[in-house]
Amino acid sequence: MNCPFCEVEHAVTVPQINLNGTHPQDLREEVLRALEAVRDAEKALLDACPNGRDYQGLSGAAAIALSQHSHRLDAIERIKRELDEILGHIQAVIDHREAQRTPA
Ligand SMILES: [Zn+2]
Repeated sequence: MNCPFCEVEHAVTVPQINLNGTHPQDLREEVLRALEAVRDAEKALLDACPNGRDYQGLSGAAAIALSQHSHRLDAIERIKRELDEILGHIQAVIDHREAQRTPA
């Protein structure tokens, strides 16, 4: 079912912003902080890319380590996509509420 705010079907479960829930600005701030932390983790992970010189004498180990590293980067990418989608939803709800409040 399409989200009425984003007009897409979300791939992740997004928060249902309501009066009894967390304030949308706080939700947005939390997700933004998480996204920043994941981007920092991605940079650190890129720096930690396996180097062949550290796998000398282990047949095929460097290639396996690189492949596993690539899977870790994919996981980070998936987390970033999900957080981006959640953030976009929260922002769409905030924008919708602002538009409702502003007299035409
Ligand atoms: Zn949405």
